[in-house]
Amino acid sequence: MLKNDQLDQWDRDNFFHPSTHLAQHARGESANRVIKTASGVFIEDRDGNKLLDAFAGLYCVNVGYGRQEIAEAIADQARELAYYHSYVGHGTEASITLAKMILDRAPKNMSKVYFGLGGSDANETNVKLIWYYNNILGRPEKKKIISRWRGYHGSGLVTGSLTGLELFHKKFDLPVEQVIHTEAPYYFRREDLNQTEEQFVAHCVAELEALIEREGADTIAAFIGEPILGTGGIVPPPAGYWEAIQAVLKKHDILLVADEVVTGFGRLGTMFGSDHYGLEPDIITIAKGLTSAYAPLSGSIVSDKVWKVLEQGTDENGPIGHGWTYSAHPIGAAAGVANLKLLDELNLVSNAGEVGAYLNATMAEALSQHANVGDVRGEGLLCAVEFVKDRDSRTFFDAADKIGPQISAKLLEQDKIIARAMPQGDILGFAPPFCLTHAEADQVVEGTLRAVKAVLG
Ligand code: PLP
Repeated sequence: MLKNDQLDQWDRDNFFHPSTHLAQHARGESANRVIKTASGVFIEDRDGNKLLDAFAGLYCVNVGYGRQEIAEAIADQARELAYYHSYVGHGTEASITLAKMILDRAPKNMSKVYFGLGGSDANETNVKLIWYYNNILGRPEKKKIISRWRGYHGSGLVTGSLTGLELFHKKFDLPVEQVIHTEAPYYFRREDLNQTEEQFVAHCVAELEALIEREGADTIAAFIGEPILGTGGIVPPPAGYWEAIQAVLKKHDILLVADEVVTGFGRLGTMFGSDHYGLEPDIITIAKGLTSAYAPLSGSIVSDKVWKVLEQGTDENGPIGHGWTYSAHPIGAAAGVANLKLLDELNLVSNAGEVGAYLNATMAEALSQHANVGDVRGEGLLCAVEFVKDRDSRTFFDAADKIGPQISAKLLEQDKIIARAMPQGDILGFAPPFCLTHAEADQVVEGTLRAVKAVLG
């Protein structure tokens, strides 16, 4: 058995961690943690600390940790057939079954699922399919993709460009020129504090119309958005937003990609966020909740409308020149089948809706009167608390004060609860596993209040 201090040294000497301050980590100036095991909503590190994971990893372990049914399905698949590819019409019972299970649950007018490994590569696939689609339709100029500031769609070249967060662009020469951004539907951060929600929606629509006008609708292929902004701050859209945006997209023949990497498979208490907000997407991105992260797997669900053009494309040009070695990996697919079965058997989607409503209500009740809490918001099992220096003037703290990270660190230290300091703004995010109980939700809210008081008084 390795000692922690030795692991600590090997970690700092050898391991290039994602989304980490590399220099501080290598020098041993920032904390590291070695996770050993987990069960339900709790994870445990090598030092025996048991932590309530109120962010489900990276909002992905939706059915909770330690599900033996999924572990067994993975082991059975690995024993029977660990790998075969899915090129030129090959498949496995797991991958074929999973594609059917996804389509059975997807919003109407969806046709096929292409499988990838993670949310970033699924969105890269989507952009390629959209470009192919417009080339087949004889519209080679119609290629730009509109994303929103504060949207999160991955960290590849195109997907990092789609992501509307400064950290993901700075010094990486992103965004690429085919990606353009529009206003985030973030009512709390509206510029004009006198605007009603309705006026703010009209403003978002006007911004989108103006962008389309400037660029030319015949150069714009698609609009991508998360039904509810996730990493950009956990921000539900204002009422009427999606209806109004979709009307603009339809008018200009712009495809809609619903990025459901976080919302897909139940996080909002409905199977898809598109169901929740009345979206009618042309393509849906799925990942995280598809396997509850028991194995890497993502997907692009393609609508009938897009699929017909892709078929035409291969009739004209031969097989589609797109695929990964690990597309529809049997182990990921087996995990996905077991995970979706478990969601149904344990009624976890409706639990997410019910406990989510409870978590959001109790969080709002406990925190919304605090002098430095500007907004408590959420939907289903997504919840966020945003901190301000002054409520009346909605003045934000200086980013250098790191109020959000300080509060999440205090919550971890005092109550052993993991919440996520979201990357842009002083925003504490919660996205627990769907098996969260009311008592655990109470624990999260009480701990958060204690942490807020400890940092801000
Ligand atoms: N899309 C959304 C909405 C996400 O939240 C994420 C990751 O958090 C991604 C895409 C990228 O997924 P991955 O990190 O699996 O590449």
